[in-house]
Amino acid sequence: MKKIGILTSGGDAPGMNAAIRAVVRSGISAGLEVYGVFNGYEGLVNDNIRKLDRGDVSDIIIQGGTILGSARLEEFKLVEVREKAVANLAKHGIEGLVVIGGDGSYRGALALTEMGINCIGIPGTIDNDIDSTDYTIGFDTALNTVIENVDKLRDTSSSHHRCSVVEVMGNRCGDLAIYAGITTGAEVIVTKETGYDEAEVLERLNYFEQVKGKRHAILIISEKITDVHLLAQKISQHTGFSGRATILGHIQRGGSPTARDRILATQFGDKAVQALMSGEGGRCVGIVSEKVMTIDITEALRTPKKSRKPLFELHDRLV
Ligand code: ADP
Repeated sequence: MKKIGILTSGGDAPGMNAAIRAVVRSGISAGLEVYGVFNGYEGLVNDNIRKLDRGDVSDIIIQGGTILGSARLEEFKLVEVREKAVANLAKHGIEGLVVIGGDGSYRGALALTEMGINCIGIPGTIDNDIDSTDYTIGFDTALNTVIENVDKLRDTSSSHHRCSVVEVMGNRCGDLAIYAGITTGAEVIVTKETGYDEAEVLERLNYFEQVKGKRHAILIISEKITDVHLLAQKISQHTGFSGRATILGHIQRGGSPTARDRILATQFGDKAVQALMSGEGGRCVGIVSEKVMTIDITEALRTPKKSRKPLFELHDRLV
């Protein structure tokens, strides 16, 4: 193998640039030429591909987002569209591809591998919703952004006898909510795993206010569960707190990656290059119990959802 490509796909995440840098520099150190594909799978189909040198990835380890851009291309599920991608890769002589993204991007990588282009996936998403790895690139940075913002809300909440309802991202994965809940000392955490029962949430808040005498409360809730503004209204009506909702939204996707994300991204990028060089394809990189490894994408997509029960129990003991 002489030439490999790299692309970022799906939602962007801080640390993707650190992974791009690692792939480019690790590839060049091993004697490969590395090509950047711009705007995800769209760039493969439109031949938006350019050779990257060491200098092209200088200074990007500290930058959030992705210098290659990202996009979603529904049509990539069609074989005739992927054939264009394969033809463009062949034109450049690119035999292997690193794909940084989430589950959807992994499916594209698997489909391309089946058409003769060896692909290695790298988990890049702030949601930590890829079950085959303990952590995805971007999760730690997003978590720290959530903590910073909730800490600020706590200051103003306590001055006003308020319950701050904070909606965090996660795309049906509760990790951002549970980790943020524990690290900010939130009173209530609601995720898909805990389930949502409005009456129970109001009752718990009343208990904290009346029995425990709390002057404020923080409620952290995953996105896509309920309308948080309506919930805040109900809190004002049915508890002693005044409810206020904050949707953190896309600020969770930005920022310079944390040390942890930079290290993870660097290890993942380097591992992906090694995997391609040893002839692997249709596999993805992950970290499990501190060990960086690759596994089959098919197996990764079948990994059962992680339960966070021990973390919820820990939270319950401390609140
Ligand atoms: P993520 O990678 O973050 O999960 P998406 O689910 O949006 O994000 O997937 C990113 C892109 O991967 C899609 O826009 C599409 O181009 C490609 N993709 C997703 N599913 C498939 C599939 N079954 N076959 C081929 N390509 C796919």
